[in-house]
Amino acid sequence: MAGRVFNFNPGPAVLPVEALETLRDNLLNYKNSGIGILEMSHRGKDFEGILNDAEGLLRELLEINDDYAVIFATGGATNQFSMVPMNLLGKGQTADYIITGSWSKKACAEAKKFGEVHIAASSEDKKFSYIPKQVSLSDKPAYVHFTSNNTIYGSQFRSEPQAGDGMLVCDASSDFLHKKIEIKKYGLIYAGAQKNLGPAGVTLVIIRKDWLERTPQGLPIMMDYNTYVKERSLYNTPPVFAIYAVAEVLKWVKKQGLAVVQKQNEEKAAMLYKTIDESAMYKAVVEPDSRSIMNVVFRLSSEELETKFVKEAAARGFAGLKGHRSVGGIRASIYNAFPIAGVAALVEFMKEFERQNS
Ligand SMILES: *Cc1c(COP(=O)(O)O)cnc(C)c1O
Repeated sequence: MAGRVFNFNPGPAVLPVEALETLRDNLLNYKNSGIGILEMSHRGKDFEGILNDAEGLLRELLEINDDYAVIFATGGATNQFSMVPMNLLGKGQTADYIITGSWSKKACAEAKKFGEVHIAASSEDKKFSYIPKQVSLSDKPAYVHFTSNNTIYGSQFRSEPQAGDGMLVCDASSDFLHKKIEIKKYGLIYAGAQKNLGPAGVTLVIIRKDWLERTPQGLPIMMDYNTYVKERSLYNTPPVFAIYAVAEVLKWVKKQGLAVVQKQNEEKAAMLYKTIDESAMYKAVVEPDSRSIMNVVFRLSSEELETKFVKEAAARGFAGLKGHRSVGGIRASIYNAFPIAGVAALVEFMKEFERQNS
């Protein structure tokens, strides 16, 4: 599409053009209803159809059965940091947290406000440059929380940490739906949509229905998972447009096929890591078996050179490559919707930059 650059932003992030075109086309007049998508009632037939689409597609793509509820919430993944322990960490219980970066630290800090927390593993000793292989769980954890992809540090779990079936709580904000996962391992999965799934404004939650009984009495109504499940995410006005956008992204994923999307994600990441590993200029910061296929983080020999890299890249139409302010360096976020042609172009640019600056 004319004028669009290769967008490596970590989130909000690039979305499939096909989905964006559908959103645009329905902005003024949704499916010839005479009312635009931003203007319609959340209690009408049209939005009911959208909600059914979004939930149905998600259940289909990830084979989510009836033991689980699907919720569309607001407040971002950050609000889930609080809702998870408020609902699931009962009196006298301990929740286990695996600490692999800034987001899991924040999640853990919230849990400490509501109950006992046990750190089952941490990679903070080496600046979060790896995913811990061993976890030591507490006696009878209420749940085991982990962050599947560390958006800032660029590390990712290859497979789930060991815990009993249905015990895992996962912040999957930055890699949700990058591949098929086995839902039965999880008690709860949450994801802010704005990385791999849609625009900002909606947060997806999948929760074991039998866990809904754990919620203590007296929680604020919007902090109680039961409110969302009982009212099908319609207790109050949900983020109508964001949910519509998620539904369109899900249609796009289905059209590609989730297995194809996964393969492309792996290919895109492999292209970048190969370029980094074969170069004398670029250094990956994460151990090979822990590297993220969503956020590729690397460094150059000096901050000056990194600044020059980002600046020249931007001039060539590669946006959003600056690393997170807390770690610096370069970060290429290559979520589902990021085109492989953009990765190939970046690889060419990286090689050229190395030739000219070494
Ligand atoms: C971005 C991000 C968050 C924060 O999401 P918000 O929707 O801004 O609250 C939490 N966890 C992970 C892994 C993220 O990438």
